[in-house]
Amino acid sequence: MEWETVIGLEIHTQLATKSKIFSGASTAYGAVPNTQACAVDLGLPGVLPVFNKEALTMAIKFGLAIGAEITRHSIFARKNYFYPDLPKGYQISQMDHPIVGKGEIDIELENGKTKTVGVTRAHLEEDAGKSLHEAYDGMTGIDLNRAGTPLLEIVSEPDMRSAKEAVTYMKKIHSLVRYLEISDGNMQEGSFRCDANVSVRPKGQQEFGTRAELKNINSFKNVEKAINLEVLRQIEVIESGEQVVQETRLYDADKNETRSMRSKEEAMDYRYFPDPDLLPVEVTEAEIKSIQDLLPELPAAKQARFEKDMGLSNYDAAILTADKDLANFFEQAAQKSGHAKLTANWVIGDLSGRLNKEDKTIIESPVSAEMLAGMIIRLAENAITSKMAKEVFDAMWNGEGDADTIIEKRGLKPADSGEVEKIIDEIIANNPDQVEQFKAGKGKVMGFFVGQVMKASKGKADPAQVNKLLTEKLK
Ligand code: ADP
Ligand code: MG
Repeated sequence: MEWETVIGLEIHTQLATKSKIFSGASTAYGAVPNTQACAVDLGLPGVLPVFNKEALTMAIKFGLAIGAEITRHSIFARKNYFYPDLPKGYQISQMDHPIVGKGEIDIELENGKTKTVGVTRAHLEEDAGKSLHEAYDGMTGIDLNRAGTPLLEIVSEPDMRSAKEAVTYMKKIHSLVRYLEISDGNMQEGSFRCDANVSVRPKGQQEFGTRAELKNINSFKNVEKAINLEVLRQIEVIESGEQVVQETRLYDADKNETRSMRSKEEAMDYRYFPDPDLLPVEVTEAEIKSIQDLLPELPAAKQARFEKDMGLSNYDAAILTADKDLANFFEQAAQKSGHAKLTANWVIGDLSGRLNKEDKTIIESPVSAEMLAGMIIRLAENAITSKMAKEVFDAMWNGEGDADTIIEKRGLKPADSGEVEKIIDEIIANNPDQVEQFKAGKGKVMGFFVGQVMKASKGKADPAQVNKLLTEKLK
């Protein structure tokens, strides 16, 4: 039997407001435990929450960016449950009237096609605190600094059909919230995490299978692994004649397995009701318009511009615009150098490779956009060969200064054509057999000659020039 996977994601993204969603306490990460939870975050008797307008603006920005309906009259509700890191006994969230309604976002598939994924809704809510199990033997520590931090929960339609697609969608949303500057998207710190709903059905069947929800996965790699594992598990369950039960499961990255947390029968009734302490949130047309005016250039528009105005391929433009900081870096370097394609090659190739290897972000790159452009200008005017360019890049990376300084200090200069010609003449004279082979039509021998000349010139010759001269002389 052939199976089809169905996936819907619920992404929790922490909004980058300075203070909490209903209080003035700081949201800064990493403070001493319980120093940033005020009376409102704890829900002490008699306190009143005050809605942080910045969180609203950020949610609306997101809604506008995915072409969604913005709800004019949204309502905060209490979701009641008990948890040690939720001292109020309820979480303030949105239920029937979320701030952001239906929208959509395009993702690029591996086969080069584009797919539109539906976003069902996005609602505002507060985060809970954190339970720390590792620090105290046999006890649990509670840190309430995170309590009351604003979250935007982005719920997708069950539109994804593979773990890869789910990850691509999640990356797309991640890129978008960072472009919009509504979240830092820091996954290590838990600012961007997801619940993956997974089911399988026989290929061709209309009806969805029963789903399991994989809770709180906080890396792209783990989302892919967890979904693939869960799909295999469900297929095995069904093929052995049993049924998948609707349940919440936990992905254990260390053991690389998913485990049941609670089943649907144990599922809680949250007794949602409108929070009597908070007024409905009214949004006017004028407010939406003014937020629309604040939107930056979005990834899709930037990608189209890079293709059209800078002549980049669809592939290069997609890579360069996936991350806002990378896109800015590239654009700066391309403008300075005046050679967009060559700059794209260097940013995607050597620079990204080096950043990856040293686990650095583009912001932390020791080679600035300006420095890279300086080197590219010299390369494009043939003042250095591509081999020398690599040497210059390494030296810039190691802090030896800008390209011109390094070129001068190291005396880098391509061999002049007189020198190159002399080398070529010698090599032709010393290799009569290969010359004969070439003349007999064995074109491959050209590679041998170029290699010999490059070696003899110690990499100082320009390969294009060598090729040209060799072709002339071997005629
Ligand atoms: P709940 O209210 O229990 O959270 P929802 O209907 O809101 O359930 O769905 C939550 C998420 O689960 C959504 O992202 C949705 O796309 C996804 N989903 C719903 N049904 C399925 C299914 N059969 N298989 C996979 N994902 C599903
Ligand atoms: Mg849910």
